[in-house]
Amino acid sequence: MNPFAYSRAQDVGGALQALLATEGKFIAGGTNLLDLMKENVMRPAQLVDINRLPLDTIEPSPDGGLRLGALARNAATAYHPLVREQYPLLSTAILAGASPQIRNMASNGGNLLQRTRCYYFYDRGTPCNKRNPGEGCSAIGGLARQHAILGASEHCIATHPSDMCVALAALDATVHVASPRGDRAIPIADFHRLPGERPDMDTTLANDELILSITLPPSAGFRGHSVYMKLRERLSYAFALVSVAAMLEIDGGTIRAARLALGGVAHKPWRDPRAEALLAGQPVGEEAFARAADALLQGATPQGVGVGSNAFKIPLARRAIVRALHQAAQGTVTNFGDNVRAGED
Ligand SMILES: Cc1cc2nc3c(=O)[nH]c(=O)nc-3n(C[C@H](O)[C@H](O)[C@H](O)COP(=O)(O)OP(=O)(O)OC[C@H]3O[C@@H](n4cnc5c(N)ncnc54)[C@H](O)[C@@H]3O)c2cc1C
Ligand code: SF4
Repeated sequence: MNPFAYSRAQDVGGALQALLATEGKFIAGGTNLLDLMKENVMRPAQLVDINRLPLDTIEPSPDGGLRLGALARNAATAYHPLVREQYPLLSTAILAGASPQIRNMASNGGNLLQRTRCYYFYDRGTPCNKRNPGEGCSAIGGLARQHAILGASEHCIATHPSDMCVALAALDATVHVASPRGDRAIPIADFHRLPGERPDMDTTLANDELILSITLPPSAGFRGHSVYMKLRERLSYAFALVSVAAMLEIDGGTIRAARLALGGVAHKPWRDPRAEALLAGQPVGEEAFARAADALLQGATPQGVGVGSNAFKIPLARRAIVRALHQAAQGTVTNFGDNVRAGED
């Protein structure tokens, strides 16, 4: 590990002032950043510890939604009574990720900024454009089982690993940030990036911006029909091959509105309003669900060859979308227990 300076901030102003814009990093739970530093994948010259900042509250917001503090832990968020009652999709998604110990440490802000789990990104012996821009991408033509089928570029085919962020995308969350230039609010759809020519940039957040909170708009219309389904290589403690957040508003057998977000398939949680629009006004059923799945997966392209190929993800994602929609139509699937596959009933 490289040497680095460490300081502990007591308030938001102090944290913003302490951070050296280009060389420093805020540290919250440390469950991702410290691993990356130990592997020499990230080498910040300075850490500003933000754990004492008063950003851990979860409270109703004036519009009837909810505000989640950036430093509220993933476990505290998932088990909060208001989250369980009003946003069971979010609770279930968070509890489908990592392990109880990690969720106790991991913060909501850190979860938004966790980095890809591409094996080559962690392996400093192999070229990686995300780690060292211009070096090349080892996953293209290599092992790509975990990699993207949508939105990839010739420079990077990595996926975003978060479960929480897939639920936040479906819920139309907003990320609130502060910097020495002032505060701003970023819709979740604009927060994570596709890799394009700059795979080293995961998000639209500047390095000196501090995440303060995440707000969720009221969810009442969808509350009775939401599902987070995560498919992975083993039952627990594994990242998603494909995950689906599905939300339906149903009135007498007819779909009034729908939200669909995919995880494990792209550099950011994947949504396409055109696929959701296809469901509106349709009767609940296989035909409409299959049409929406095909629309959401339009342009899906496999990566890798032989045993390293992720071609299996395309039919897997299609079946997962259709199944999640059927489950959502029957009623909200919650799973607040540990080590149980989300979406299993
Ligand atoms: C073994 C293992 C398995 C895992 N499995 C899953 C899984 O299945 N699903 C899943 O979704 N996640 C999984 N995770 C990831 C885990 O959820 C993240 O590591 C965690 O959410 C990161 O939060 P943190 O507070 O520890 O972030 P840190 O490690 O402290 O920080 C991560 C990044 O966020 C930045 N940061 C943190 N807070 C702020 C802030 N408020 N403002 C600006 N920048 C900030 C840091 O500078 C750093 O760049 C797993 C992690 C591990 C180690
Ligand atoms: S897919 Fe992205 S993260 Fe993985 S090796 Fe290629 S450039 Fe690096």
